[in-house]
Amino acid sequence: MELKIIKINAKRAFTKTKIPGANYVINQYVGCEHACLYCYAKFMCRWYKYGKWGEWIAVKENLPEIVKRENVKGVVCMSSVGDAYQPIENKTKLTKRILENMNKKTKLKILTKSDLVLRDIELFKEFEDIEVGLTVNDFDGKLKKEIEPFSPSNERRIETLKILNESGIKTYAFISPIIPKLVDVENLINETRDFVDFYWFEFLNLKASGKEFRDWLKQNYPESYNLISDKDRAEKYIKEVVEIIKNSNISVKGICVHYPKRVICKSY
Ligand code: SF4
Repeated sequence: MELKIIKINAKRAFTKTKIPGANYVINQYVGCEHACLYCYAKFMCRWYKYGKWGEWIAVKENLPEIVKRENVKGVVCMSSVGDAYQPIENKTKLTKRILENMNKKTKLKILTKSDLVLRDIELFKEFEDIEVGLTVNDFDGKLKKEIEPFSPSNERRIETLKILNESGIKTYAFISPIIPKLVDVENLINETRDFVDFYWFEFLNLKASGKEFRDWLKQNYPESYNLISDKDRAEKYIKEVVEIIKNSNISVKGICVHYPKRVICKSY
C-alpha cells in the first residue's frame, strides 16, 4: 500500500494540551507510518478521512516558518498524533527544520520510537531546556510484528537512549503501554536505569486503543485482556506494578492510569 502524503498549511504551531507534563503540543505530522495497532491517536482518522491509520500522513509544511515568530511559555511536547522521527522525516527533514528555527528557550519535550532522533543531537544541545524520551516496552518477535510493525526494535531504542545520555542530553524512558503478562516493568527498568534521567509509565488505555486492538488482545492474549478489563483484577495488578516502580529507586515523573479510574501520579 502506497503511503498517502497530504500537504497542508497550519495556522499556528503550538496548541494547548492536557497531556501530562506538558502545556502545549506541536504536531508537524498528523498520522504515523509506525502504525502501532494500539495507537491512541487513531481517532484522528475521524477528521482526516484518507484511509486506515498508518496509510496516510498529513504534513504541515509551513511549521518551520511559523515557529520563527511564535513563542509560548510552558512545556511543549513534540508530537502527540504522529512520531516526529517516523521514516518520512528522512526525506522532509521537517522536524529538523522546526528545531533549527524554534526559539531555543522553548522548554521542549520530545517522545519518539525511532533512532532517527540521534541525527539531531547537536541541535538538541542548543536548547536551554530539553528532554528526549524513547518509548520502551517488551514487544519483540511475532508480537512486535503484529502490534508495532514498523518502528525500530526495543533493543535499538534502548541503545538510542544510551547514546543520547552519553551525549549529555537529558533522557527519559516512557514505559508504555503496560499490558499484563506482555510487559515486564521491572526488567525494563533494569535494562534502562543506567542511562535515563527519569521515567514516565503508562498503563494501557484499553478504550483509546480501539476495537481492532481490543479484539486482537482478546483473541491472542485472553488472560491479559481479562485481567485488564476486570475492575478488581486491574486495580490489584496496577497496585503491584506501582509498588515495583516505587521500590526501584529511580526518578519517576509520572504514572498514568486510565482504568478503572483515570489517575496521574506524579514524582516519586
Ligand atoms: S509511534 Fe506513536 S504515534 Fe506512531 S503509531 Fe505508534 S503509538 Fe501512534
